[in-house]
Amino acid sequence: MKFVEQQVELLNHLDYKEMLNNIEMAGRICYQSKSDYSVESGEKFVRMIIKRGHESVLEHGSLTFKIKTNRAIANEIVRHRLASYSQESTRYVKYDDIEFILREGKPSDLFNAMNILKQIEEQYKAFIENGYRPEDARDILPLCTATTLAMTMNLRELRHFLKLRLDKAAHPQIRELSEKVLEIAKKEFPVFVEDINE
Ligand SMILES: Cc1cc2nc3c(=O)[nH]c(=O)nc-3n(C[C@H](O)[C@H](O)[C@H](O)COP(=O)(O)OP(=O)(O)OC[C@H]3O[C@@H](n4cnc5c(N)ncnc54)[C@H](O)[C@@H]3O)c2cc1C
Repeated sequence: MKFVEQQVELLNHLDYKEMLNNIEMAGRICYQSKSDYSVESGEKFVRMIIKRGHESVLEHGSLTFKIKTNRAIANEIVRHRLASYSQESTRYVKYDDIEFILREGKPSDLFNAMNILKQIEEQYKAFIENGYRPEDARDILPLCTATTLAMTMNLRELRHFLKLRLDKAAHPQIRELSEKVLEIAKKEFPVFVEDINE
C-alpha cells in the first residue's frame, strides 16, 4: 500500500510555434488575411480571437496530458465530454501494491484511513489469490484508489475545463490538479491560458 500525490505530465508532440501556426492558419481563413506566421504574429492573432469570443478557432489545437489522480476525481474529469480519454483498466490490471491518493491536509486519522485501506488491500489480494479476476476483486476498491489516464482536450475545451475546475466551488483535489495543468500550459503554451488564473 502506498500513498501517492496527484501528477500531471504533458504528452504533446507539437511545440508552441507549431501550435500557434496551425491555429493562425485555420483562423485566418475566416478573414482571408496574411501573416509571417511568427510567434509574435500567432500570439497577437490568438489574443484577438479570444477577445472577440471567436474561440471555435482554438479547437484546431489540442493538448494531451498524462494524469495521475484518484477514481473520484477521474470521474469528475471524464464528465467533460468534448475530450478524449484512455484510462487504466481495473478489469485487466492486477494490483500488487495498491496506490491511494488522499486529499492533502485531510487528517487521515479522521477515518482511520491507514487501517481501512490496509484491510481493503489485504482483502483485494486475498480475492486474487483465491482465483477472483481483477474485474471482480475491484469491487471493494475505494474512490481514493489511484488511477492514470491520458486526456486530450482542444484548447477551447481546456480553457472551459480550467475555468470550471479552478473555481473555488470545485472540489479541492480537482482544483489542485487543474493548477498543475494550468502551470504546465502557462509555461509551454502561454498565450492560450494567460487570462486564466488560479
Ligand atoms: C462545482 C461543480 C459541481 C458539480 N456537481 C455535480 C453534481 O452534483 N452532479 C453531477 O452530475 N455533476 C456535477 N458537476 C458536473 C457538471 O454538471 C458537468 O457535467 C461538468 O462540469 C462538465 O462540464 P460541462 O457540462 O460544461 O460540459 P463539457 O462536457 O465540458 O462541454 C463543454 C461545453 O459544451 C457544451 N455542451 C456539451 N455537451 C452539450 C450538450 N449535450 N448539450 C448542449 N451543450 C453541450 C456546453 O456549453 C458545455 O459547457 C459539477 C461540476 C462542478 C464544476
